[in-house]
Amino acid sequence: MSVEQNIMSVDESVCFDIDLIRRYEGRGPRYTSYPTALQFSDSLTEEDYRQNALASNTSGVPLSVYVHIPFCHSLCYYCGCNKIVTHNQSRVSKYLENLYREIDMQAELFDRSRLVEQLHFGGGTPTYLDEPQLRDLMQKLGNAFSFDESDNRQFSIEVDPRTVDDDGIRLLTELGFNRLSLGIQDFDRVVQEAVNRRQTIAQVSSLLNASRDAGFKSISFDLIYGLPHQTVASFDKTLDTVINMRPDRLAVYNYAHLPQRFKGQRMINADDIPAPETKLEILDRTIHRLAKAGYIYIGMDHFALPEDELVAARRDGSLQRNFQGYSTHRQCDLVGVGVSSISSIGNVYSQNSVTTMEYEKLLEDGRLPVRKGIAVDDDDLVRADVIQSLMCYDQLLFDDFDATHDVEFRTYFAAELDRLQPLIDDELIDVNAEGIRIRPKGRLLLRNIAMIFDRYINDRQTDNRFSKAI
Ligand code: SF4
Repeated sequence: MSVEQNIMSVDESVCFDIDLIRRYEGRGPRYTSYPTALQFSDSLTEEDYRQNALASNTSGVPLSVYVHIPFCHSLCYYCGCNKIVTHNQSRVSKYLENLYREIDMQAELFDRSRLVEQLHFGGGTPTYLDEPQLRDLMQKLGNAFSFDESDNRQFSIEVDPRTVDDDGIRLLTELGFNRLSLGIQDFDRVVQEAVNRRQTIAQVSSLLNASRDAGFKSISFDLIYGLPHQTVASFDKTLDTVINMRPDRLAVYNYAHLPQRFKGQRMINADDIPAPETKLEILDRTIHRLAKAGYIYIGMDHFALPEDELVAARRDGSLQRNFQGYSTHRQCDLVGVGVSSISSIGNVYSQNSVTTMEYEKLLEDGRLPVRKGIAVDDDDLVRADVIQSLMCYDQLLFDDFDATHDVEFRTYFAAELDRLQPLIDDELIDVNAEGIRIRPKGRLLLRNIAMIFDRYINDRQTDNRFSKAI
């Protein structure tokens, strides 16, 4: 099993086995980090963050900056994001004032020689900001950090199609963005009404054309299955439209109905949510239709056309899973600014305050808004690498692993290897003398496989803080 062979297997079709999926169905982490955010604690202080950030300059690795804009004009009932639905501009101004403070304080910690190769605006709705606000924010970031000015940089933004017109798309290019994702979810009007998010095919089509004309690369669509009133036939129609539009990437998420956690979801009538069998059928159809249309399954809800950089990153070893899902530029330190943003610098994860009130108060007091985090230990690092390998590359080679770590895989993970036996019996994975390889049946159950290597897992099959695996 060589890396080359694994590249060949990228376009193997995913095997959808409904009985297996039902058997493994349960809640589990999405492993956008390991340890997951549940392990973050307030024992990591603001001073720890500062010292770690300063020390990271010796590595000289480039930076990836994430900016959280929490505002939205209206509530999409399914939403589980950290957002504020408001029309109050003074709230936005106050937030931006504090965000600017944070940007200055954060930038002081990093050497100017460290280029920002990746920038991502997420939310909420980053395009909630109007033109002057977006211009100011980009200028602020550009002054505080050193932007990579080469073609290599990836500056991306999440776009709510209801908030941007074709001129808005051109503005985003002018500001330096070269990647974007459009929140589609579903084109069906009945579904859109039921989740309070109305947008037309014409609107999206026009933005897509404007984005292509403006030179955006890697245009991505987000879809959600499991929304109220969705049927196999209705979602098929949405897929017809999407496949016809041919975005470079697609993220197709499972709607997790957790009304006890997310108040807005109480607006959704649970009886209108498709039955589990319907959801699985929708997923099955989606996977097959996208494969037929030429999309490659990257893993965990993500699909990309063969020419897309995610596929290239999978090939050259620079693919990673992080807080934005799958991403390239694995080598960067991630600096998150804004309410609830997560940073990953060296071996330390940290998260900002999750309430705007606390976030703003700390900054007004001259403090960084870091509230919790974790300094990962040697065991975490080893396990994180195993989970990254399996989730990004569908394999782990023992020799490669042993050459890069101080431990010998088969000895260190002897207990985990034993626990993999049922997954081997179910044909989710192969384990042989060379390593572990995910089989087509296992590709939809990546998190179930990764959970075997998670030392913090403690009966999370029933832990409702996690979404369901499928
Ligand atoms: S889905 Fe996006 S636009 Fe809708 S409420 Fe959530 S963050 Fe706001």
